[in-house]
Order: sequence, then structure tokens, then C-alpha cells
Amino acid sequence: MDSLLPAEDDPGPLTPFLSRLRTNAAEPALLAVLPVVAAFVLFRWFHFIADEPYWLYITLVLAAGASRVVYSALWAESRRRWHLGAYVGAAMAVIAVVAYSTGWGPILSIGFLFGAATALEVFGSKATVPCLVWTAVAMILGQLAIALHLAPTLIRRPLVHGVAALGLLGALFVIGLLGRADAAREASDAELRRSERRFAALVTSSSDIVIVADAGGVVTYASPAFESVLGYPSAEDQNLMADTLLHPEDQSGLTDIMGGAQGPSSTIHEEIRLRRADGDWLWFEAAITDLRTDPDVNGYVANLRDITRRKDAEERLAHSAVHDALTGLPNRTLILDRAHQMVARARRENLSVAALFVDLDNFKDINDTLGHEAGDRLLQAVAHRFEGMLRASDTVGRMGGDEFVVLTESVPMAAGPELVADRIRDVLREPFCIEGYDQVPLAISASVGIATGVRESANELLRDADIALYRAKAMGKDRWMMFEPAMQSAVLDRLELEMDLRSALEHHEFLLLYQPVFDLDSVRACGVEALLRWRHPTRGVLAPDEFIPSLEDTGLIVDVGHWVLTEACEQAAQWHRRGHALTMSVNVSMRQLEIDAFVDHVRGALSRSGLDPGSLILEVTETTLMRDTDATVSRLKALKELGVLVAVDDFGTGYSSLAYLRQFPVDALKIDRSFVAAMGDSAESVALVHTLVQLGRTLGIETLAEGIEEQWQLERLQGENCERGQGFLFSRPVDPGAIEALLTSTLSAASAVSSGTADTQ
Ligand code: C2E
Ligand code: MG
Ligand code: MG
Repeated sequence: MDSLLPAEDDPGPLTPFLSRLRTNAAEPALLAVLPVVAAFVLFRWFHFIADEPYWLYITLVLAAGASRVVYSALWAESRRRWHLGAYVGAAMAVIAVVAYSTGWGPILSIGFLFGAATALEVFGSKATVPCLVWTAVAMILGQLAIALHLAPTLIRRPLVHGVAALGLLGALFVIGLLGRADAAREASDAELRRSERRFAALVTSSSDIVIVADAGGVVTYASPAFESVLGYPSAEDQNLMADTLLHPEDQSGLTDIMGGAQGPSSTIHEEIRLRRADGDWLWFEAAITDLRTDPDVNGYVANLRDITRRKDAEERLAHSAVHDALTGLPNRTLILDRAHQMVARARRENLSVAALFVDLDNFKDINDTLGHEAGDRLLQAVAHRFEGMLRASDTVGRMGGDEFVVLTESVPMAAGPELVADRIRDVLREPFCIEGYDQVPLAISASVGIATGVRESANELLRDADIALYRAKAMGKDRWMMFEPAMQSAVLDRLELEMDLRSALEHHEFLLLYQPVFDLDSVRACGVEALLRWRHPTRGVLAPDEFIPSLEDTGLIVDVGHWVLTEACEQAAQWHRRGHALTMSVNVSMRQLEIDAFVDHVRGALSRSGLDPGSLILEVTETTLMRDTDATVSRLKALKELGVLVAVDDFGTGYSSLAYLRQFPVDALKIDRSFVAAMGDSAESVALVHTLVQLGRTLGIETLAEGIEEQWQLERLQGENCERGQGFLFSRPVDPGAIEALLTSTLSAASAVSSGTADTQ
């Protein structure tokens, strides 16, 4: 892998002397000694050299060869300064002895150049000075030997010394030149090595992968990141074809450049996938350059940057844009898209398609009673069941909240979608065991709206399924309904009603009637309940049942309720100022209690009107109270701190345990009128009313009976010691003026009622 790395300057550990000696002695170059010996013998034969004995020349040449083996082994590998000096000295000494033994001493000064060249090759330019010094020393000693007649000379004296001086100067000059050339080469080599090392460090330490492939696409070099990122062992040893790693879908860019489509030295930038050794695909940003015309490369160079994480993040983003975070199902956007495709295909190929809107019944109760986390888990479990139930060609998605959509294709027109709807309802019927809530297996049901058949657009198909769902819910939930055109008009009516309601508040179409509340003991009016009416521009005065559900659905109840509070407090304050100290009961819807601003609404209504908080009774239904969310409880407590009273409306109709009564700061129970009405039917019903009144007494809470229509009902309730009552027997809900009239006549009426002869309203 690291073939781009230049050799380091450090030669590594030194070999022991003896083994160096052996290696040097075995060098074939040493055999060159033999022709030299032969040459000397010949020269001697022809008297070209001094007439010394043959054995002397043979011995000298062989000794010169042997000594080179020894001093080379001793010092050539060493980096110590004096070893360098000793090597050069020994080399020059051997040359001097051989040269001066021939009688041609100074003429053979060329031999020193050979010695110097060898030393420079071995040690580099740092051998220059030792070579100069030892050459001079060797020649001076040689000349001394001639002068002292210790060495032969074929040139007569003193001429021989002049020749030596010239030869020495020449030799020193040439050695100096050689040394300088060496130094220059070394400097440029060092620079080259430095730059190579810098480049190598860049390539090897980078997390980017660099691959060089030959013209045929075989990898000839891969940087270390290739191994660490992709997990393949050194690629260049395996004749790896670059394109075998490439994802089949990403081949086209590579084919372009391999085919030379881009021209020489061109670079393409592509995002490609490469297979990792473990089989996973990684994303890379690749810059591939065609360097087939560059003789140093003769192939392609690819620079690859791992962008898998970025790609993953992009994919996750793209996925989350069209999927629901909670259940992982397609969200509204994707469902619409799929529905568009499905409807278009159905029109083209004459297939039949169906959209099913599924809404979980009473999901809000689960959310409110068990908490949002349990609600979320249930939705996940429902999604999971849907996925398990459908065919691959079906699509299931979550539109939001507890509403799911199923799109099915090619269902035979006859009974197909209905069967799917039945299956959906069946899988949901199986109780859900939610982790952390195992003790209560949740049984849920669902309402399903089905739209099927060819439509102009997907929107139409989905809208019709939604209308059918609305119908299924209106029919009492837990059923499926198939869309029929007539349903549309019902929905239009609802929409019209909602639009009218929006403008009703602005146009002062709401009004309040008041129904008096009587103290059953004295039979005197002690309070009133404010009851909302809507004076509809075309339909006349409407009762709350006809519009309050719509107000609640649209959230308009919050604004309307605020108006009711303000108006009722103002009215009560007015009566108080006129000396009628009546309590004012105001009905409060769940939706009002759900918002933070409600406590402020109450505080504002009280302070604007100046009504004593103790005269305001907020009526909350039992079911509202049972949605025991922390926020509701804390809001009720805040209201109690203001000093207002709280009554439980329609008491007895919820199927609550009575335990909650202890938990909430309640001041009165309003016994639902169905109990009062049933009192005549059986002894059990009387016993039930008795129990409810007793319960109030035990808890220290006042009881009030609703819907007293008959005299005997009043008497029975009086017999049970029920404190207060309200009903048509006393008065229907009436306008404020009628209440005042009634109050002034209360005394006589009361005595009449208690004697059983009055005909109250
Ligand atoms: P509720 O709070 O239980 O009010 C008592 C209902 O019983 C009134 O109906 C009243 O007219 C009726 N009623 C009283 N005495 C008798 C009787 O002797 N016999 C019979 N059969 N009925 C009697 P209404 O005015 O139609 O109100 C119906 C419901 O609408 C109320 O029930 C209350 O839950 C709701 N509502 C009324 N006004 C408001 C309001 O301002 N805000 C909210 N959130 N709900 C309101
Ligand atoms: Mg009420
Ligand atoms: Mg009631």
C-alpha cells in the first residue's frame, strides 16, 4: 500500500562486522582483481613498469583487493567521522602503494580520482575533504619515498616531483569538482525526498481515498484510507478491478470517462456508491481524472470522499418529510401522492380502487385518562396491526391524530372494500396490551368511511371517504359506511352551520335565558342558571343541543363561552345591585377548561361586573371532570382560589367511580333529570336518588335536583332533604325581565307551590 513512500534516510540497524566481511568477500566485482593482476604481469614483462619482482606486483594487487574488502567492512557502513577518514585514508594508502610500486607514481595520480569517486559514492559529499587531504598526504608520502629511494621511479629526479605537483593539483581540482557536484545532487535529492514525503503524508494520513487504476481499470495503487474505510486488504496486490466495487446504478458516469468521452486530463465529479468488504454500500463524492496520456500514471486517478453520513441524513430528512414520526407510516403528503398515482392508474387501466378512512372511536378518552404516552403507544400498535394485515399493493398511512387511511387497488367492485373494512375492525377488536399499561388491555373500536370507484382526482376520492367516515361517526361509531352522494349534502349543512356560527357572535345572535333555581325547603328562588340560545336568522331560536356540538368541534365554544360568562356575571351583578342576591350558574364546556386563558376569562368577568365570586357557580359535567388531566385539576383549583363555586352537572350519568369527588374541589351535585323523572317508576329509582342525596350529605356537598316537572317529584325530593331544585314546575328558562317578575311574586308562589296548588310556568 505504501509504495508511494520514499525510502527513509535512516539505513536501519547495522549488520555485524563479520557478516559484512563475508558479503564483501563474496562480491563478484572482486574478480576484477584478476585482470588487473594479469595486466601488471604483462606490463612487467614488457618493462612498462619498474623492474620489481613479479611476486611483488601480484602480492600488492591481491593485497589491495583484500584490504578493500576489509576496510569496506570496517567503515563503509559507519556514520562516524573518523571511520570515514580511516576508510578514505586506507583507500588512498592502498592506491598510493600500488601506484608508486610501478615507478609511475605521480603519473598514476589518476588512481586517486578513482578512489575519491568510490568514497564519494559511498559516503556522499561529506567525503570530499578527507579525499582531498588523504590524496595530498598519499602523494607527498609517495614523493618522499621516491626522494629517499624507497620507491622506484621511471621519471628522473627532480622532474618527477614537478610532475607530482602538477598531478596533485589536477587530482585535487577534479576531486573538488566531484565533491561539489555530489553536494548539489544531495541537496536536490533531499528536497525531492522532502516534497515526496509531504505528498505521501497528505495521501496516507487523509481520510479521503486515493486510487490509481491503469488504463484497463485495474487498481495499481490505493491509499491507506482504502483499507480503513472500505475494509479491503491492499487492493493493488489483488488485481482488483475498480468497477467491481461500484454500485450497478452508478456505472454510467464511469463508463463515460473510461470511454474517453470527456477527453484527456478531464475530471468528472460524481456521487457514487462503493461496496465495502462487509457488503454495505458507502456513498462517496468522487473526482476521477483521466490521466491515460500522462506517461507517469497511464491510467485514472480517483479521489474519493466518504459522504455516507451526509447522504444518510439527507435520506432521513427525505423520509421524515413524507412519513409520520410516531408510527413510521406514510403521512398525509405521501398518501396524497400515492392516491394521485393510484387514481391516475385506475383511470388509465380501468382498475377499481378504494380509499378507507379509519378513525379510532373515543381515542381522546384514552389520551385523557391514561395520558399521551399511552395514546402514542396505542397508535403505534394500531399502525403495526394495519401493516401486518394489508397486502403489499395496499398503502396505509396516518393522516394525523387517530385517523388512518388505507388505499387499496384492484379490489373486485362487489364486496372488496367492505371486506377490508371488516378486517380492519376485526384486527382492532383484539384487545391491545400496551407496554407499561399491561394491567388494562385496551379494547378499541373504529369507524370507517369508504369511497370507491373512478374519480376525477385523488382529492375527491379522499374527501368522499372522509364524508363517509363522518357519517359513520354520526351514526354512532363502531361501523363502516360506504360513501353515497346524498351524504355530501349533510356535510354541506354542517359546513353551513359552522359558517353561520362564526358570524353569530359578531352579529349578536346569541342570547341567554335564565332558569331559576329554588331552595326546596323554603321554595324560594335562590339562583338562576344561564342557558344559551341562538337566534338564527332563518331558523328561529335554536336550543343548545343543535349548535353546541358544532361550537365544540370548531373550538368556537371558547369565544362564545367567554361571552356567556361576561354576560351572565353582568346580569347577576345587576340583580345584586337591585337587591336580589341570586347565585348565577354558568355551564362550562370541556374545551374551555382545556385552555390556559380560562381562569383569566373568569377573573375578568368577575372584576368587570363587580360580582362577588361566591355568587358564581361553574357547572362542569361529570364526564369533563373525569378527564382528570393534571391541567384540568390545576385550573379547577385556581378557580376555587378565586372564590367561585363548582357544581357537577348531569351527576349520575357518567359511569365514574365516585372516588373522584374527593379529589376535586366540588361544591354541589346536580342530580340528572333522568333520575328525577324515573322516581315514579320504581322503588329502586327512589332509592337511587336517596343514595345520591346521602352521598352529597356525607361529603358535605349540596345536592340539587334537575328537571322537576311534577308536584309529587318536588314532594319526594323535599322528603329526601334534597337542598335545591330546578325544573319546569317552577319555571322554564326565561328572559331576565321574566326572572325579575318571578322574583317579586316568589313569596306568594312559594307558599302556593308548597301547598301544592300553584301552576308555576
Ligand atoms: P344543563 O346544564 O343540564 O341544563 C339544563 C337543561 O335542562 C336545559 O336545557 C333546561 O332547559 C332543561 N330543563 C330544565 N328544567 C327542565 C324540566 O323540568 N324538564 C325538562 N325536560 N328539561 C328541563 P337547555 O337549555 O336546552 O340546555 C341543554 C344543555 O346545553 C345544558 O344542560 C347544558 O349542558 C348546555 N348548555 C346550555 N347553555 C350552555 C352554555 O352557555 N355553555 C355550555 N357549555 N353549555 C350550555
Ligand atoms: Mg347546567
Ligand atoms: Mg344538567
